[in-house]
Amino acid sequence: MTSGHSAGSTPAAFLDDFATMSSFGATAAGGVDREAATADDGRTRRFLADWFDRHGLTTTVDAVGNMYGSIEFVPGAPYVLVGSHLDSQPTAGKYDGAYGVLAAAHAVRGIVEMVERGSLIPQFNIAAVNWFNEEGSRFSPSLMGSGVFIGKFDADEILKVTDRVGISVRDALSDIGFHGNDRQPEAVSYAEIHIEQGPILEQEGTTIGIVTANWAARKYSITVHGEQSHTGATHMALRHDALVGASKIVVAARELTQQFPEGLLLASVGQFDVEPNSPIVVPSKVTMAIDIRSSDPDVLEQAHEMLMAAIDKETEVRISIDTSALRPSTSYQIEGVELAEKAATDLGLSYRRMLTMAGHDSVNLKDIVPTVMLFVPSVDGISHSEKELTHDDDLLHGVTMLTETVARLVRGDLESSS
Ligand SMILES: [Zn+2]
Repeated sequence: MTSGHSAGSTPAAFLDDFATMSSFGATAAGGVDREAATADDGRTRRFLADWFDRHGLTTTVDAVGNMYGSIEFVPGAPYVLVGSHLDSQPTAGKYDGAYGVLAAAHAVRGIVEMVERGSLIPQFNIAAVNWFNEEGSRFSPSLMGSGVFIGKFDADEILKVTDRVGISVRDALSDIGFHGNDRQPEAVSYAEIHIEQGPILEQEGTTIGIVTANWAARKYSITVHGEQSHTGATHMALRHDALVGASKIVVAARELTQQFPEGLLLASVGQFDVEPNSPIVVPSKVTMAIDIRSSDPDVLEQAHEMLMAAIDKETEVRISIDTSALRPSTSYQIEGVELAEKAATDLGLSYRRMLTMAGHDSVNLKDIVPTVMLFVPSVDGISHSEKELTHDDDLLHGVTMLTETVARLVRGDLESSS
């Protein structure tokens, strides 16, 4: 084994950096509000770039705002990438994504020190990454930066995407100084650590989750078309109320989940806009976003059919499905899972294999390179909320685990095991 602890990243330094980082876009309730390419995302990014500088890493930024803090050990060799995302939901917790980016930065620094000490002979180079717009709240779709990195999205198309007030990704990134033109590093493998966003690790008292696969998900944007009229002067039989039609779909999404054993299907409408949204007007139009997920791809497909049937049944209004996207359940490479298990065993940390319900940039990266996804406990499983909490000792165990995992990737353990 390479190291029993994360050299170069003292617990105090990590917690201190995390506190500083969490001050950008801080909310009164203890969370953060820093959607992609906002001023507060920019402040957090400048903190990270400065951190990279101070720790001897070279900062580069690609066209879609992905940031890399890299170091070349082996001229011309590809890079082990390790990262997550700094952007957040509108009012969010301070751990989701940001923890993984800072942990990655500290892991890279720890590995540089191992190499300098001679306790690690690198086969590959290494870079910490902050992926642009993982959350997809300001700009849709989510997992944007990593999606461009793996070639799933076209950079020029992504740069044209606009937010709700018409600002493009290109302009928003330019405004904060992060529309770069640096080349993407060539990846050989990827690692990411994230809070679990579920209650399993905390309930079991397990320190580390090693992710084997992601839940399948379907996301829809839907428009309900009604007919605008006077709320006080239109006979009920003549109404085409978009809000009534939309409400039935909201309830149908909830009722879908009751058709399956508890916990097998999750469904919600998370976004809902009513037009013209005036007190004396029967609504003419509702746009909404539906998100359904399952650990079982067959259940997801059944739920999809049932949702489509509920939409077809509607007669008072017309419903159009503007976009419908499937994120299939796919597996992380088993050799990466086993590498992480060995690392946890050697460090004496308790661990278990598990699925991820939420999407992560690692779901994209694993399509092109062997990828290790790690979790640390989330208190009560709360996430996308200012109440999100992971205890300091869990944060620190995660940094140690990530450092050890990435050290093995840099040493070439994956290649020698296969
Ligand atoms: Zn996240």
